[in-house]
Amino acid sequence: MKQTLLRCPICQKQLYFNNVSYSCGKHHFDKAKEGYVNLCIPPIKGDDSHLVQAREDFFLKNPYEPLMNAIFPWVTTQDVVLDMGCGIGSYLKYLKDKLPLLTTIGFDGSKIAIKKASKSDLNGQYVVANINSCPIIDHSIDVVLSVFAPYQISEVKRVLKPGGRLICVEPGINHLVELKSVLYPSLRLNEVSEPLKTPLNLIHEENVNFIISCDHSLLMSLFQMTPYAYTTSKEAQEKLSSISHLDVLASFVLRVYELH
Ligand SMILES: [Zn+2]
Repeated sequence: MKQTLLRCPICQKQLYFNNVSYSCGKHHFDKAKEGYVNLCIPPIKGDDSHLVQAREDFFLKNPYEPLMNAIFPWVTTQDVVLDMGCGIGSYLKYLKDKLPLLTTIGFDGSKIAIKKASKSDLNGQYVVANINSCPIIDHSIDVVLSVFAPYQISEVKRVLKPGGRLICVEPGINHLVELKSVLYPSLRLNEVSEPLKTPLNLIHEENVNFIISCDHSLLMSLFQMTPYAYTTSKEAQEKLSSISHLDVLASFVLRVYELH
């Protein structure tokens, strides 16, 4: 039985792994054939297959590489990195390409997304999990990564080692402004949150901006993976469908915090 950094979602005791299943001694969770484990009890409604497919199509061409390059300097090879809301694991896979010895754990509420992540990153640990109640033992993580995902700061604080870092990315004010201009008659810019305060110390903040040159298929994948896909009129969707090329600004706020 191998020790793991995971904890039982029922009794919160550390989980041990015997190559087939994870167990706290009382509760057992089988490893799926794709390699992931489902520790989400009760199940939550994660991203559906349509959204996950759009994300997979979009990331195939790696259009967010400049954002990934901005995240990279804040991770070192000996770190244990937990991506809270990892989706199909795009950011973790990027980091592991650069740092092959990195230990990574990806959590997401969507079983469909975790299955895909696990299939394409056989050495990565992927877990279907509720990130509001992380099935991970206390103070075991060097870096928590949160890209466009909501998180509970109390859980981030609990899982980070002292001196550990939280890297979070949220959309900047003008993120995808050209796409929104096609979809909506009046433009509403994004609101950027205030930096977090104690117990985390903001050590770095930057705006990451770059243009994505979207052909039709990339544009449609991008649209399908945004919340706009659910709030756009049929007419606006038809208008978007007729566009063969659009340059779209990707704009992010990247913040890095350190736990005191
Ligand atoms: Zn248990």
